[in-house]
Amino acid sequence: MYDYDLLVVGSANADLVIGVERRPAAGETVLGSDLAVHPGGKGANQAVAAARLGARTALLARVGDDAYGRLLLDAQRAAGVDTVGVLVGGAPTGVALITVDPSGDNSIVVSPGANGRLTPEDVRAAGSLFHASRVVSTQLEIPLETVVEVVRALGPDSRFVLNPSPPRPLPRQVLDACDPLIVNEHEARVILGGAAVGDRPEDWARLLLAKGPRSVVVTLGAEGALVASADGVARIAPVAVDAVDTTGAGDAFTAALAWRLGTGSPLTEAAGYAARVGALAVTRPGAQESFPTAAEVAAL
Ligand code: ATP
Repeated sequence: MYDYDLLVVGSANADLVIGVERRPAAGETVLGSDLAVHPGGKGANQAVAAARLGARTALLARVGDDAYGRLLLDAQRAAGVDTVGVLVGGAPTGVALITVDPSGDNSIVVSPGANGRLTPEDVRAAGSLFHASRVVSTQLEIPLETVVEVVRALGPDSRFVLNPSPPRPLPRQVLDACDPLIVNEHEARVILGGAAVGDRPEDWARLLLAKGPRSVVVTLGAEGALVASADGVARIAPVAVDAVDTTGAGDAFTAALAWRLGTGSPLTEAAGYAARVGALAVTRPGAQESFPTAAEVAAL
């Protein structure tokens, strides 16, 4: 019996957003809207998405001993995430400085801060969390050596889910552990090393499978998704919705998929559920604010 359905290991960022008429050029100062501060970061987003669906969720992350760190911890606790694994201090909380113009185009500067100080040693020290978790999920907004240690720390029967974002080439022991590796088109192309991979998601999935993962999921935005494993390749139909803001859709999808796999759903069924969660997340603005409850998914 596991204490947690899902352990998310990953980043937590404060997203500082200012609306501008025009994004500044080099050396230029522009005036913008009032500052909006939102809890974000792929790890924190995934944990909130899973907990909101009802998953017993823990987060292993690092934030600074500052106001943004407290804001992020509050958002986790409000969603019902167990924050026993959130370490505090070592560097300022990770921050994304975002300017958005009226057309929706943005410029973003990320300071990883404490996320970059989540070390392999922190993972080893949290060993009991790994043994208490049915599924472990991570992304690449923390150091790669920490992700490698996550793979080493997995319990004998726990399942590992990776969304390699932002993407970079991955060592074989990480790829081999993924079940599934969850990628969008850009991530697929980077993991495949820029080889001539064509335009068919089915081909990306097969090429990725050959690199070691036990299964692969390709997310396709409004086109739905695709799952691939030794059993073959299957399309997951999109759910038609009016998209308002796609921020965090991938995080909501990944969290939902990881949780459903942990409850015993086969991959295609879990991906179908995740597609409904992702679709609902794009119908509302923001990231964590947009994630649905299980009742909302059931009503879709
Ligand atoms: P991001 O990095 O922006 O969070 P992503 O590129 O990792 O996202 P997407 O493919 O955009 O991931 O979205 C994840 C899933 O959410 C999709 O596979 C799909 O099931 C669902 N989804 C996203 N956008 C839409 C949409 N416009 N309509 C319906 N479903 C959507």
